[in-house]
Amino acid sequence: MTLFDKFKPVRTAHQSLIDHGVDPFRLVVQQVLSPTEAMINDRRTILAGTNNYLGLTFDPQCIAAAREALEGQGTGTTGSRMANGSFEGHVALERELAAFFGCSSAIVFSTGYQANLGILSTLAGPGDSILLDADSHASIYDGCRLGGADVIRFRHNDVTDLEKRLVRLGDRAPRALIVLEGIYSMLGDRAPLAAVVAIKEKYGACLVVDEAHSLGVLGEGGRGLAEEAKLDEKVDFIVGTFSKSLGSTGGFCVSRRPELDYIRYMSRPYIFSASLCPSVVASTRVALSILASQQQLRERLWENSHVLYEGLQKAGFTLGPEVSPVVAATVPSKEYAVAFWHGLIAQGVYVNLMLPPATPNGLSLLRCSVSAAHTPEQLTTICEAFATLKAQLSE
Ligand code: PMP
Repeated sequence: MTLFDKFKPVRTAHQSLIDHGVDPFRLVVQQVLSPTEAMINDRRTILAGTNNYLGLTFDPQCIAAAREALEGQGTGTTGSRMANGSFEGHVALERELAAFFGCSSAIVFSTGYQANLGILSTLAGPGDSILLDADSHASIYDGCRLGGADVIRFRHNDVTDLEKRLVRLGDRAPRALIVLEGIYSMLGDRAPLAAVVAIKEKYGACLVVDEAHSLGVLGEGGRGLAEEAKLDEKVDFIVGTFSKSLGSTGGFCVSRRPELDYIRYMSRPYIFSASLCPSVVASTRVALSILASQQQLRERLWENSHVLYEGLQKAGFTLGPEVSPVVAATVPSKEYAVAFWHGLIAQGVYVNLMLPPATPNGLSLLRCSVSAAHTPEQLTTICEAFATLKAQLSE
């Protein structure tokens, strides 16, 4: 046995994917043309897997703000805020996030992944417990591991299972942290927030909601599931990312709890990683103000989500349990998924190929994410491409 033996199964699995044609994990986007179009394999391709929910990546105001920050403040901060200090933009973005969520404070991280690592590992350590939904994103699992708390998974969206596990903790329940996602990234379903809040209050636990896919998507003001469910004040910590509806990169946590301010001094992913570069901070600040003020983008996003969900449903695909901007078609096998994904690319449609172990319950998924920027014609083309391939490929 050597260190390198562990790579053999990966090599075999990878080879079997490449044997089907282009390597799905090395696809090159040659040129991005707009929030919904790019050149891929020398062909104009509709982007239907970007998480660019509000289509803000080419917004002229966001680009102008980024350009001004780039020219005025340089390309990067070259260090963490603890070591190199905060730029004014970091502090302003935190102030604006806290105000947007009606919270007392906010912390900005360099990615959404780091936000989960930083918050979860600091909130729950040895002797504490984290109850997490089985379908949680990898960054939630990794954050739990980094902190060293006991990790207890409950069945996806199953409040009875969650309560059973909290009861088992006995007098350790007040040292439990429950973690949910606003909209789950793979199948697009919402967490049953009201029922979970009732349980967390009954047992005195603490609640974190990752609104990565629901920020800008749910709630009249775009604050996410907590707003939509009118439970903003009951969620202890909200984490999220700038890499989806805000069209940049970075992550954040907001809270009404004073403890958030101390997390900054204890969180390794915050302390030991370079802070966000000024241009990213600048475009994110403008995108946040657009997200907050332009409700019509959210309305368009939902109209488009209905069109895609209902179009694929009519074409006979098995989809997630509810309409949302994440529309994922479950297909019978990995091989079928890979062939289908290649077929879509050949027809000028890009979606996410999602395979186990990255998916819940070993599902093979063709995952689409809808954007407010998709045109009706693009949505029709996506549905037609799915229907054509379904007729062509045998399961
Ligand atoms: N949380 C969830 C639920 C996500 O889906 C993602 C990204 N897919 C992240 C966190 C990580 O965000 P980022 O890409 O900004 O690191």
